[in-house]
Amino acid sequence: MKGTVICDLDGVLFVGSRPIPGAGEALTRLAEQGYDLLFCTNNSYRTVGDLVKRIRALVGFPAEAEQVVGSAEAAARLLAGRVERAYVLGGEGITEALASVGVDQVDEWTRAQAVVVGLDRDLDYDRLAAAVLAVSRGALLVATNEDPTWPGPEGLYPGAGAILAAVETATGRTAEVAGKPRMPMRDALKTRIRSEPVWVVGDRPETDLAMAKAEGWKGVLVLTGVVQPGQDPDPAPDHVLDSIADLPELLDQTQR
Ligand SMILES: [Mg+2]
Repeated sequence: MKGTVICDLDGVLFVGSRPIPGAGEALTRLAEQGYDLLFCTNNSYRTVGDLVKRIRALVGFPAEAEQVVGSAEAAARLLAGRVERAYVLGGEGITEALASVGVDQVDEWTRAQAVVVGLDRDLDYDRLAAAVLAVSRGALLVATNEDPTWPGPEGLYPGAGAILAAVETATGRTAEVAGKPRMPMRDALKTRIRSEPVWVVGDRPETDLAMAKAEGWKGVLVLTGVVQPGQDPDPAPDHVLDSIADLPELLDQTQR
């Protein structure tokens, strides 16, 4: 193979449920050119099966579950072998990932040895309080990711990082964070990387590009997500593209 392309989802393949024009064709061409493709998201709300369905339905590329790495899996890696029971502020993605490493999700905070925080779209005060009480009593605090927002249909909605801030503020504790650009996510990716060089394609400098930089992978910023043309991203990308539709041509040129 010619190398591995690690592709972020939201802001790269689609924004909300609107596909980026040419994304599916670009992925197909990269696969035909001999690149290994991985899909990496800080979204911990959806299950891997849902993420696969979403890639297939929105951009028409036949992604497989083994190609998808989410921050719920990274968080589960952080907890595997350390605790048996966790209280969760988050979605089905976390439930599935915890089950896969043998950690039970409990409803009573008094039994929790860890609290896992992700994006929770059914959050209410009582569940937030339960998480805070568990952490205050000594439960480990783990977050799937700390993205402050996610791009929704009417603008930027509060993300896992915003919910995490509430728990950290109330407890005075700092979470171990699993998702991009942190080590647990990089370790999860490394178990799937079969060929080098490695390219990371993303729209968010502080997660996608920071992860690439930390590992010496090539960082490609696309302007279809959170960064607008003319802004000065930090860390700086190796390449900037209008969209992922231009990626096959870029790799063609740089590999020649
Ligand atoms: Mg993104």
